Amino acid sequence: MRVVGVEGTAWCASAALYDADADSVVIESDAYQPDSGGIHPREAAEHMRQAIPRVIETILDEADGDVDAVAFSRGPGLGPCLRIVGSAARALAQTLDVPLVGVNHMVAHLEIGRHGSGFDAPVCLNASGANAHVLAYRNGRYRVLGETMDTGVGNAIDKFTRHVGWQHPGGPKVEAHAADGEYTELPYVVKGMDFSFSGIMSAAKQAVDDGVPVDDVCRGLEETVFAMLTEVSERALALTGRDELVLGGGVGQNDRLRSMLAEMCEARGAEFYAPEPRFLRDNAGMIAVLGARMAEAGDTLDVDDSAIDSHFRPDEVPVTWRAPEAP
Ligand code: ATP
Repeated sequence: MRVVGVEGTAWCASAALYDADADSVVIESDAYQPDSGGIHPREAAEHMRQAIPRVIETILDEADGDVDAVAFSRGPGLGPCLRIVGSAARALAQTLDVPLVGVNHMVAHLEIGRHGSGFDAPVCLNASGANAHVLAYRNGRYRVLGETMDTGVGNAIDKFTRHVGWQHPGGPKVEAHAADGEYTELPYVVKGMDFSFSGIMSAAKQAVDDGVPVDDVCRGLEETVFAMLTEVSERALALTGRDELVLGGGVGQNDRLRSMLAEMCEARGAEFYAPEPRFLRDNAGMIAVLGARMAEAGDTLDVDDSAIDSHFRPDEVPVTWRAPEAP
């Protein structure tokens, strides 16, 4: 089976070709880079309008007419972006006369880790820009075991970096500056299985305004935020009795987060897997890979029922591509 994936939930206009027999994924992406500030929905949608046709054309050249299905990110994400990507995917599926598959972007972030690791029953930490979830599969759905009570983890970091005047995206800059910094204490907010990032960001901004060196605040941010994510992931492993953890989402490109999770897993005898960076940040490869599983399970959409859903939660998705009794 060969599936074209199309992604465009926020900043990354992307198309990919997944060849299931060869287990190969070719990805073509074009990132939106705001001139100043964060992601502006209207500008991001304009970027999708310009970039999506080009990335799809490149992938169609690669496919050379051999495509069995078209999968697209149905949500969650920015409505104006999702609508453009949805229209492109519908038009493409109809032109090629192949089934259309609507993929939940958050489930794709975790399934690409399951695909790469070969793990059966992992707990998944999704640490992305607009979201932060800890999930595990049970009885036909991915269950949300813990999640952010306010902003996504990457968006919180990006807000801090905008405050100090750094260009979007902020995550890589925080990582670079943290390497030269001394730890600064910031509020640590885990409540039950959920986490909150907004208070930490306000405290981090205040610390910089009060004259604490920015490198030290970056170090404190990394240590605090990633310790929170690691604690909840560990609790999820303990509560579910599972011994596999996969990481998903753009913040997962951070070395310090990966090393904390790896250390925690090693200490409790669990296995840890983080996909390569091209599959962590937003990308159409993960959409094509999950799209192929869904298409094989017959989980396709009529064009009339393929509306986007900007608030599409991962626990709303019936997991048709796994046996209900699977662990
Ligand atoms: P979602 O997948 O929830 O829709 P998103 O579309 O914003 O989120 P992702 O590609 O998953 O996108 O993640 C982007 C985020 O990753 C940005 O907030 C960015 O700052 C952050 N990020 C990228 N690299 C790093 C890094 N090295 N360290 C920390 N954060 C990073």
